[in-house]
Amino acid sequence: MRDVSAVNDVQIVVLSGPSGSGKSTIVRELLLKSPIKLTLSVSATTRPRRQGEVDGRDYYFLSQEEFQKRLARGDFLECAEVHSTGNWYGTLKSELDRAKADGTWALLEIDVQGAKTILEQFPNAISIFLWTSDFEKRLRDRATETEEVIQKRVATAKSELEHASMYAYKVLNDKLPVAVQEIIEILQQHQRQAADRPIETSATT
Ligand code: 5GP
Repeated sequence: MRDVSAVNDVQIVVLSGPSGSGKSTIVRELLLKSPIKLTLSVSATTRPRRQGEVDGRDYYFLSQEEFQKRLARGDFLECAEVHSTGNWYGTLKSELDRAKADGTWALLEIDVQGAKTILEQFPNAISIFLWTSDFEKRLRDRATETEEVIQKRVATAKSELEHASMYAYKVLNDKLPVAVQEIIEILQQHQRQAADRPIETSATT
């Protein structure tokens, strides 16, 4: 088992939740307001770019071939086909390096399959599952997807809820400022715990 804290000193924060749980807004708020500075890991994806999305900022938009090539090269920490659409999403290892270079923690906004892989590799990762009592309504209000896609996302959301127990923290996002504050407190609590931990000395020195 490999843990990032031992490998390159980057604390990973994994945030998951069904479509419509307000993840993107929470992420935006956290990047602005968290006193513990976070670098958002920009994922790679094969899904088509939505209007307003920028390559390299929202995602690295890759063709299926390019994604497979990078997968074979071992560039991903994890990857998964999300929402049964044939579209792949993955976290690039280089994104952790970016967080390290910035001296921040790495925030991964990924699905439950990706979270499982990350938590297996990095047990010290902080895992947060975001949910809301009205995700289906939010998804429809957003109106960026076709009915077929919405149906698939609702089905995925329901199955994602079943995986919530894997996460250390479940945060209800019915009131945005409350949810943001709750997450900030979780991060600060981890920071305090890390500071309180005695410094380990290597047996080989
Ligand atoms: P969207 O297509 O709406 O941007 O994202 C769909 C889903 O893909 C979200 O649930 C998001 O958490 C997930 N996702 C985004 N990036 C990654 C990634 O790098 N890995 C995994 N496993 N899931 C991701």
